[in-house]
Order: sequence, then C-alpha cells, then structure tokens
Amino acid sequence: MRIYLDHNATTPVASEVADAVATAMREQFGNPSSIHAFGQSAKTALDQARDAVAALIGASPAEVVFTGGGTEGDNLALRGVAGMPAMAGRRQIVISAIEHEAVRHTAQALGKAGWQVDEVPVGSRGVVEPDNLRRLVGANTALVSVMHANNEVGTIQPIAVAAGIAHDAGALFHTDAVQSVGKIPVDVGTLGVDMLTLSGHKFGGPKGVGVIWIRRGLALSPMLTGGRQERGRRPGTENVPGLVGLGVAASLAREQHLPAGDRIARMRDRLEHGILERISGTVVNGAPDARVPNTSSISFEGVEGESLVIGLDLEGVAVSTGSACSSGTLEPSHVLRALGLPPSRVQSAIRFSLGPSTTEADIDQVLDALSRAVGRLRLRGDSRLRLRTAPRA
Ligand code: PLP
Repeated sequence: MRIYLDHNATTPVASEVADAVATAMREQFGNPSSIHAFGQSAKTALDQARDAVAALIGASPAEVVFTGGGTEGDNLALRGVAGMPAMAGRRQIVISAIEHEAVRHTAQALGKAGWQVDEVPVGSRGVVEPDNLRRLVGANTALVSVMHANNEVGTIQPIAVAAGIAHDAGALFHTDAVQSVGKIPVDVGTLGVDMLTLSGHKFGGPKGVGVIWIRRGLALSPMLTGGRQERGRRPGTENVPGLVGLGVAASLAREQHLPAGDRIARMRDRLEHGILERISGTVVNGAPDARVPNTSSISFEGVEGESLVIGLDLEGVAVSTGSACSSGTLEPSHVLRALGLPPSRVQSAIRFSLGPSTTEADIDQVLDALSRAVGRLRLRGDSRLRLRTAPRA
C-alpha cells in the first residue's frame, strides 16, 4: 500500500464529495442563472454549497464568491484592489517574503505595471514581525497580503495583528488561507481581514474550485468582464458540480477534519521525533510551536531533497520538497531562503504533509522507509547535491 504524505499539494477526494459531484453533474445540469426549474435546481445546489463554505469560515453567504481555485482568488484579490478607483492615489502593495507563487508572481506582474511592491521579511521561524510590517506600510499602501499558513513549513502568521496595521494606514488586507482552511479553525471576523482566499482541493474537495471571501461593501474590481454571475464579481457560468463538491468538502471539514486536528498533530510529532531520533543530521524548519497540525519540513544533512523524494517514492511513500507548483524548476525554495537557511539546508529539505486518513502504522512505515532511503543516499554520496552546491554563476 502506498502512503500519501503530500496533502499540502492536494488531497484525496472524499467519497461523499465524489458522489455529490457525480449526482450534481447528472441531475443539476441546468444553468443556475436560468429562471426555469432546471436552473433553479442548480441554483439551490449552489446556494447550499455557499452556505456550507460560509459556515466553515464564519462568513455570510452573500460574501462568498466562487472562483476556479486558489490561484484565481489570489489574482482577484491583488488585481481587484489594484483596479479599485477608491484606491487611486495609493501605489504600493506589500506581501510577505514567503507567499505562494499565486500571490508572489501576481505582485511581481503588478510591479512591472508600475506598482511599488515591497516584501515584508520573516525571521528564522518563518513568522512576520509586526514591527517590520509597520515600517513598510503607510499612506501609499493600497493592499497588504500575508498568507495565513505557509504551504512549505506550515507556519501560521499573526493575521489579526497584520490586518490591524494595514487598516491603521487606510490599506486593505488580504490573506491566502489556502493552507489553513480545513486544517485549523478559520473565522474571517476574528482574523479581521477584508479578503480571504481558499481552494477546494486542499481539503478534500475537487480541483479547480475555490472561493474568495470579500467583506461586504468592498467594491473590488472584477478581473473578467462578462455576465452578472457571483453578483458581478466573477462572471461566467459557475462550475456547479465542482462547487457542490466544494460544499460537501466544507461540511466534512467542519464536522470531521477540524476535530481531528489534535490527532493529526500527534502523528506529525511522532514522525518528527522518530526522524530526529533515528536519523542523524536532521533538523526541523520553521516554527514548531506555530504551525498547522499536519505539516513538517525537515532537512536531511548531506542528502539532496529531490533524490530523497524519488527514493521514498520507490519505497511507496509520497512526499515533496516544497511547493508542488515549483517542483521541477530546480529553483531553491524562496520560502526556506527567506527563513535565512543556508543553501545546504534548503536543498536537503523535505515536506511531509499528513491528512485525516494518516495512521500511526503509516508513520512507522515511513520512518523505516526514510532510514533506508537516507542511508542509501548518504552511502553513495549524493552527486546531485555536490553539483548543486557549486557556486552559481
Ligand atoms: N496558495 C497556496 C498557499 C497554495 O498552497 C496553493 C496551492 O498549492 C495555492 C495558493 C494555489 O491554489 P490552486 O492550486 O487551487 O490554484
């Protein structure tokens, strides 16, 4: 049996979700904007999904805007604020140094279009220091975007404090909560944010569906032009089956997965302790006391992370070096570099991300597989590591 410890890349779809998607595809084929019974049946299904997502994040259903996933939500937040007439006169966007590419590359694109983009650094724990943010934000700031939980090291940011700093300067605040929703309780009111992004496939839902929550009254500019769907904020006929699946995943997350958080954390800790005890030259990256319960980033001295991913795959264990979106690029992780880790530790890092279905037996099997795979790589002296640590031209 293969063991899947890559839940931050994507999650298995729960059977309840797959069944709901299939049923909606067959039975709710109407266009939710049509006024006849077929359309209204689809609209009712969408409304139920909207209610379920709203309940998961403590929002009002009218503030939930369906999107085609996390990347689209992040784009809409940044580009939407950049296009707001009310923000004319403010030309700066501030993001954290460890944002996902969906925010990072969007900010860079806006930078090329004339925006001043600044990155607030994180310390070695991967946490934004409020004073550093305060120093960057001012009368020119339109938007601050800081992710709730990081996808590589799992660190949770002090979002309410950061949002307060943005608001004091008259700026808006967005958080990418793609890696926190479904893992820890998320409440838009408590966080005090203006916009929040989530993605279905990170918590048991289908891929290609997500939400941007937009605080009531915020006139974000839509990215697309078209019909009046989603109250004009996201034109285009909604992906009804996918969104029905998202709704079911949201309910499952609230009823089953969030209460399982402590169990998942215990399993993650069992994995970490086992690795640190059994394998020499290992170290945990990030903030052990301020993480989502399922994530662990560990560096294995003298081993190339990608070689270890392959070695573990051959042992039947799926993990990753970091963001699935950057794998294969051979670019060292910008997240681990932002933590100030030396190149050797960046290149030897592996991300383990557990899920509700992970068992103790899985963890014990992974520990055995790891000991074998690391032992083999160290014995042969990882040649790729030697190549990659050569100074870059
Ligand atoms: N933001 C974060 C923090 C992520 O981890 C991801 C996916 O890895 C995304 C955004 C992008 O989400 P999606 O895959 O739904 O476009």
